[in-house]
Amino acid sequence: MSTNRSIETLTSTTATRPLDETAVEIIGMQKWFGDFHVLQDINLRVGRGERIVIAGPSGSGKSTLIRCINRLEEHQDGKVIVNGVELTNDLKRIDEIRREVGMVFQHFNLFPHLTILQNLTLAQIYVRKLSKAEAEETAMHYLERVKIPEQAQKFPGQLSGGQQQRVAIARSLCMNPKIMLFDEPTSSLDPEMVKEVLDVMISLADSGMTMLCVTHEMGFARQVADRVIFMDQGQIIEEDKPEAFFTNAQHERTRLFLSRVL
Ligand code: ADP
Ligand code: MG
Repeated sequence: MSTNRSIETLTSTTATRPLDETAVEIIGMQKWFGDFHVLQDINLRVGRGERIVIAGPSGSGKSTLIRCINRLEEHQDGKVIVNGVELTNDLKRIDEIRREVGMVFQHFNLFPHLTILQNLTLAQIYVRKLSKAEAEETAMHYLERVKIPEQAQKFPGQLSGGQQQRVAIARSLCMNPKIMLFDEPTSSLDPEMVKEVLDVMISLADSGMTMLCVTHEMGFARQVADRVIFMDQGQIIEEDKPEAFFTNAQHERTRLFLSRVL
């Protein structure tokens, strides 16, 4: 992947990164699916503006972990604290957290029967209670930032996979999130479209956004991650700065994984 630091940053936020402020704190978190102990004693603190890449083999619990951060999955023990709010069953709080935590999935999850513009304005109008005009202005702003304003009146099926994923990112940004979660955002894309999506993510990182990204794009990890976390069988078995992670992984399991993806 090539460097593209010159592209405009994605949000108007200044790129300050007060890493000593805590964005996400997970303490002794446990999760089961029935009898299956899918997440085991997870401890993780993410600073404001920090960029975390989460790697690990399929089935190791990466998706489940990030889904616990916006309560798409419920943990059973330990604490998950997001923007200072502990996640419990308080539905009002869950709504609040979902507004502050954007998520981008492997499959773009756009509404196929709505135009790109409508996909971007829907939640702004119904959740943020903005007027249609305000919502459209914000939508166009972010479509420009992900470099596809000319697609606004099309339907998702008329766009390439890379374009659809950029729409999905723009849609999240329209909600003005404080934290962005990415779950293998480039895994279902044809190789030639991976870079255009990674460039948008790099630009977002440059703007100071707090990001947790599950990805196997190790070039991206090297370029933007403050920390790489490696999961295996429901546990975080290794975490380090990218340089150390790639050159000096401690666990055999990590080295084996790296030998396959690098
Ligand atoms: P990853 O994202 O690292 O591939 P996942 O978090 O998706 O891993 O899944 C971790 C494990 O939990 C896998 O064994 C998966 O089959 C299992 N799992 C995921 N979701 C569910 C679910 N809703 N019910 C039961 N098991 C699940
Ligand atoms: Mg997954």
